[in-house]
Amino acid sequence: MPLLVMKFGGTSVATVDRIARASKRVAREVANGYDVIVVVSAMAGKTNELVGWVEETSPLYDAREYDAVVASGEIVTAGLMALRLQEMDIPARSWQGWQVPVKTTSAHSTARIEEIGTDAINQKFKEGFKVAVVAGFQGISPEGRVTTLGRGGSDTTAVAFAAAFGAERCDIYTDVDGVYTTDPRIEDKARKLDKIAFEEMLELASLGAKVLQTRSVELAMRYKVKLRVLSSFEEYDPNAGTLVCDEEEIVEQNAVSGVAYSRDEAKMTLISVADRPGIASAIFTPLSEAGVNVDMIVQNISEEGRTDMTFSCPTNQVKRAEEALSKAKDAGAINYREVVCDTDVAKVSVVGIGMRSHAGIAAKMFSVLAREGINIKVITTSEIKISVLIDRKYMELAVQSLHDAFELHKA
Ligand code: ADP
Ligand code: ASP
Ligand code: MG
Repeated sequence: MPLLVMKFGGTSVATVDRIARASKRVAREVANGYDVIVVVSAMAGKTNELVGWVEETSPLYDAREYDAVVASGEIVTAGLMALRLQEMDIPARSWQGWQVPVKTTSAHSTARIEEIGTDAINQKFKEGFKVAVVAGFQGISPEGRVTTLGRGGSDTTAVAFAAAFGAERCDIYTDVDGVYTTDPRIEDKARKLDKIAFEEMLELASLGAKVLQTRSVELAMRYKVKLRVLSSFEEYDPNAGTLVCDEEEIVEQNAVSGVAYSRDEAKMTLISVADRPGIASAIFTPLSEAGVNVDMIVQNISEEGRTDMTFSCPTNQVKRAEEALSKAKDAGAINYREVVCDTDVAKVSVVGIGMRSHAGIAAKMFSVLAREGINIKVITTSEIKISVLIDRKYMELAVQSLHDAFELHKA
């Protein structure tokens, strides 16, 4: 029997009514002759609420208990979806991560899937079950504890199941009707893309476009999963949405194909550290050991033999970074005058595989920002992206002006 994976995000299962609507879509695919693995998120807002409860109860929480709490949202929607399908006379049951099992690493709150057991679910399909409703975002560690895959992790659950079960396609149903040139909530003129290359999607996702979790795109690329993003609110159309595919399948290619942003960035500068071999290692090793995800880095010479080192990291890791740095200072590993922290910054990036063959994209990006009076604090580039760190209050303006200047509204 051919098999499909259908993933429904938080807004698509936000109420019992919406779960009923999503179930109708599942029923249609069952009627089309598919066995279906449905992956569900928690109801919209639920995971945030659960995280809030954890932080309120225990500010320096035990990550294993954090996972036990935040994984519960998906358990509820999986059960409700299975019940709804049963009401429609479709043989279905729910599966929690540990029941499948979805085996992960023990990196609590950011675990990686290592293996998905397929026997139990396949056995149920053989017995005549048509739908397996899987709780997304969760798994089980080698120690037998519940783990979660990082925010947005249900996308990754879905793609991993599609790879493990050899699904014909993995459909990600969400609250927008595909992947756009930028977040359509910030730019009205954002244009829906019919197709996007894996590599571009990977960059957009890792630079903040939360429509797909980065890891899900990596997995789809590695295991050649046919991945589609589409709306759970629009009328069904077999050609709807955006297909994430190989570069070769895309005929037309602009130099820039998308703009992404990440709101919750912080910029930290160590003032006056010794300018000597090994200084970068002495600073960034303790940060990495403390679990700080350092993103952009710049080093600028200040005075004779001294330098300032600037880096960016997510806002919620600033405390951890400060602690790691002051510990390293106390231990004599580094010496700096002070750490200056700016938590009101955002990162804006332009992405496109066409950049490989077009010169002048960076220059154009910088002149657009200059025209708007937006100061650039840090810059990083790669072959197919340019990112800048700017004051957060200019983030929307930067996204809109860049979208306009690169004419992304035009196909
Ligand atoms: P779900 O709950 O279904 O997983 P998410 O909120 O995680 O949905 O992701 C969908 C959201 O991603 C959209 O509502 C949109 O605001 C945002 N988004 C950011 N960048 C893009 C983009 N380039 N294309 C489409 N959506 C985007
Ligand atoms: N519910 C989880 C979150 O909000 C996982 C997901 O929705 O993908 O991050
Ligand atoms: Mg999501």
